[in-house]
Amino acid sequence: MKQSRPEVFKFGGVAVGNAEAIRIALAHVRRAAPNVAVVVSAMNGITDLLLDAGQAALRRDRGRCEDAAVELEARHMLLVAELIASKHRAEEITGVILDSVREMRSMMESIAVLEELTPRAQDVLVARGERAVARIFTAAAQEVGIDAIYVDAIDIIRTERRLGTLWPNLAKCERAAKKHVLPLLAEGKVVVIPGYIASGPDGSLVTLGRGGSDFSAAIVARSVGARALTLYKEVDGLMTADPKSVPAARVIADLHYREAAELAYYGAKVLHPRTMIPLVDRRIPLYVRNSFHGTSAGTRIAGDVKPGAYPVKALTAIHRQALVSIEGKGMIGVPGVAGRAFTALSQAGHSVSMISQASSESSICFVVPEGEADHAVAALEQAFDSERKLHLIDRIDAEKRVALIAVVGLGMRGTSGIAARTFSAIAAAGVNIVAIAQGSSELNITVAVAESDATRALLALHAEYQLHKIRPLADTTGREA
Ligand code: ASP
Ligand code: MG
Repeated sequence: MKQSRPEVFKFGGVAVGNAEAIRIALAHVRRAAPNVAVVVSAMNGITDLLLDAGQAALRRDRGRCEDAAVELEARHMLLVAELIASKHRAEEITGVILDSVREMRSMMESIAVLEELTPRAQDVLVARGERAVARIFTAAAQEVGIDAIYVDAIDIIRTERRLGTLWPNLAKCERAAKKHVLPLLAEGKVVVIPGYIASGPDGSLVTLGRGGSDFSAAIVARSVGARALTLYKEVDGLMTADPKSVPAARVIADLHYREAAELAYYGAKVLHPRTMIPLVDRRIPLYVRNSFHGTSAGTRIAGDVKPGAYPVKALTAIHRQALVSIEGKGMIGVPGVAGRAFTALSQAGHSVSMISQASSESSICFVVPEGEADHAVAALEQAFDSERKLHLIDRIDAEKRVALIAVVGLGMRGTSGIAARTFSAIAAAGVNIVAIAQGSSELNITVAVAESDATRALLALHAEYQLHKIRPLADTTGREA
């Protein structure tokens, strides 16, 4: 018999953050089982705690190291106490936790003695957050009669180095899942996998970057040929805007993969920006749902979503940015200024989130995080030292307290006048636009405004595009048939 396509669930840090949250998570799993694979994050706060412990060890702050070890042990042992009643399981899992804490202590001691914290040591240190939760989740599932089994991510998520960053080798991941996951699912087991961690090119343990367990879950979903991936979080889905700034913000019922990627890239923190990548060509739909609101349908993200009635679907804001500009009449017609500026900034370690150039070519501006602005200006001053001496470039400076607002929607492509509507809505709210850029994807328009104007601009745009009228998904199961 052909195996039917499994489902993949991922539970975020808050959704596994205490015993009650894990009970709720287990209820979601039980409803869907069998044929479910589960990816879990570390408990909320634990990754930060472990990263901080590494730094404390490096500073030889032994008091802080010890506090971290004690807290790691306490939070996990509390889960064991509350979720695992049977003696043999509790003993086994307690042993796992205590080993992990013991290893953490000796790692911190070596870091302190060697006065060195390598990326590899840091990865091994933080990996225990996800591993501990996955172990406890597995045992707690067994405790309530779910036939669960732990499979380590190092055996299934295989990465390679591409252009200096780690990237999953999706073909290898798929082969690994065929070997290590699909047979277990076929036996009716629920497979539980720690998120965030993977194996590196040489087989050693690596991590996928902060918030990376969404990405882990997407890689697993692709690798097992899932019929859907659901990310269970503590929010109802992706929203038309941040409700803290825009009280009328609504959950967006459906988004195209590209819209979701754009939103994630432009600062909507709900989703790791890489999550969509493994799913797109397999057309695996992605749901973002609130683990704690069993009836909320959440957001469905897929490839079959049509532009529909809302050319603009969402707004995001990136705060605390600075606009770095290079100005000078002498730049007109001088080739390569933008390219050199870019190179200088990237060599100085800055990643630029937006560029725009005046059509007169007499100024170019870049947006960088506010905290990097002075350093970025210094790097540019150095790179253009001779032009400055020759007065080809008059000014390099940074305007701080800037926010970037991105207006995102697939329908913008076919709809004329979105840029004009965006600018006039902002102007009508009395907000001055300091710079504009349109992504080449035509899926977004980004404007830079003064930080103090950001909320007013967001409110005006939300009203202009009638985003308070976006309706939730009709069904409440959020599942593919
Ligand atoms: N625990 C990791 C972090 O906090 C990964 C994740 O939660 O997605 O970044
Ligand atoms: Mg997290």
